[in-house]
Amino acid sequence: MHFYVMTLFPELIEKGMHTGVLYKAMEAGILSLDTFHIRDYTIEKHKRVDDYTYGGGAGMLIQAQPVYDTYQAVLERLGDSAGKKPRVVYATPQGSVFDQAKAEELAKEEDLIFLCGHYEGIDERVLEEIVTDNISIGDYVLTGGELPALVMMDAISRLIPGVLNNDESATTESFNDGLLEYPQYTRPEEWRGKKVPEILLSGHHGNVEKWRLEQSLERTKERRPDLYEKYMELHPPQPEKKKRRKKKKKPQSAEGLTEGMAGEGTETSAEETNGTATQENS
Ligand code: SAH
Repeated sequence: MHFYVMTLFPELIEKGMHTGVLYKAMEAGILSLDTFHIRDYTIEKHKRVDDYTYGGGAGMLIQAQPVYDTYQAVLERLGDSAGKKPRVVYATPQGSVFDQAKAEELAKEEDLIFLCGHYEGIDERVLEEIVTDNISIGDYVLTGGELPALVMMDAISRLIPGVLNNDESATTESFNDGLLEYPQYTRPEEWRGKKVPEILLSGHHGNVEKWRLEQSLERTKERRPDLYEKYMELHPPQPEKKKRRKKKKKPQSAEGLTEGMAGEGTETSAEETNGTATQENS
């Protein structure tokens, strides 16, 4: 993955990316980063890149010319090898909100260009000309697009094979299957009187997996009911087979698992919920 960032604060981007696993991935050639200082491309005498807004209003706006010329320099650096035009992501509070699905989508690209605004933003005409994706990192306003670009590059980078030491960790994280991750523990087994849940020490893979799914469901239900609802829509409780002689103790659905977790001790089958079980069992 090659990142190209157009910004008025290249040092912020460089510093942000030159730490930890991202730095290691750059050293290993898995990621690369090129920053382009928008101020280097202005044709104004005093290296100005901003001006007042037409129609009045507080604040300054970055002009179209320096941004467009910076973009041309990025394209030059890319050369024709890319073939297709690379995506240009403008970090803006007016974009669709960045999430894990977006990170996964962008991680499939070979080259990604980020455009960071500042002040009141950027002249609309150049945005229309070059931007392919308007993306926000949340419903709040920051002073610049650098932190959002770093947030996005970080989330995208860790999905690139080889960036994390353990490829599995990228696929078992929160959001990966629409649920938050289960709680995790490391040594010691007991800390300040708190013990690691017994089941994690059992070595029984199946039980550990079941416990983790239960925990993920519980946690998501409690902390992010919006995500939980979506997950349940995609994984509706399985209706149980009609000609069942014996009631099994094992929960049959994701819903069953959470109910088991809540410690209510009863397992409600789909049939019982809709009232048909009473007839069948009598
Ligand atoms: N006047 C603009 C906000 C400008 S904030 C408006 O009301 O939409 C200055 C710059 O910070 C923007 O150009 C953008 O690049 C960046 N920025 C601010 N908040 C952001 C957010 N939530 N997500 C992504 N980028 C953001």
